[in-house]
Amino acid sequence: MAAGAARRDPGSGGERRILCVGLVCLDIISVVEAYPPEDSDTRCLSQRWQRGGNASNSCTVLALLGAPVSFMGSLAPGHAADFIVADFRRRGVDVSHVAWQPRGDVPCACCVVSAASGSRTIVLYDTNLPDVTARDFEKVDLSRFKWIHWEVFISKDLAQHFGYSSAPEALRGLRSRVQPRATMICAWAEAGADAMGPDGEILHSDAFPPETVVDTLGAGDTFNAAVIFALSEGKSLQEALTFGCRIAGKKCGIQGFDGLV
Ligand code: ADP
Repeated sequence: MAAGAARRDPGSGGERRILCVGLVCLDIISVVEAYPPEDSDTRCLSQRWQRGGNASNSCTVLALLGAPVSFMGSLAPGHAADFIVADFRRRGVDVSHVAWQPRGDVPCACCVVSAASGSRTIVLYDTNLPDVTARDFEKVDLSRFKWIHWEVFISKDLAQHFGYSSAPEALRGLRSRVQPRATMICAWAEAGADAMGPDGEILHSDAFPPETVVDTLGAGDTFNAAVIFALSEGKSLQEALTFGCRIAGKKCGIQGFDGLV
């Protein structure tokens, strides 16, 4: 749960970038009319491979918003990695900080997206690929980046795991567990999102529901990316929260990310 602006390097030329650190995986997505009963045998409406993973999805959205963006995370050579790297490049995401691992499998998620509700049910295989290490970071010139994103944000899943039933409740409850004056942001699906700034005041944005919710896979990653984009452009926390909900709502109305911006 930390994000921050890297130290400015006055000697470095060009626009400073955003670095997202974390998971990339292969998402194999089946879009179904309605979520199937267990042990049934049904046809889906469509099926696609998509580059997924939280940091990877946020990179996609940041690139679509026009930010220069780099991804840092682990991959192991093979078919899945070839697909993933080609897709990063198609979106204009820099992959020079990928930590290539000599062993392990690229994580793969089987995702069922219900066209009826827009819900996404994810089963992730992510067991044996080593993570990036401090040694990988030593190779990175951090002064190239104006923003480095790990897991800043508190997801609804994490908040519920801690026993909270709303975003403001989670922010108030978790405040004592983070650094004093830290900014915390928590998205809560149809309820929109809340943030707590350094002064402890809670800010809120309603969600922006699309006409029809068709695909919520990556809604949280989209929200995070849009908030980071707005904050890194100097917008206020309230403006960033509202922009995050607006872009995430738009994402829920389309399959995948094409046509988001
Ligand atoms: P996650 O993908 O981490 O589960 P959430 O479900 O909390 O993320 O959603 C993140 C953001 O996406 C919300 O703050 C909201 O702005 C938007 N969002 C998610 N689901 C919907 C929905 N059904 N209608 C409108 N906006 C939504």
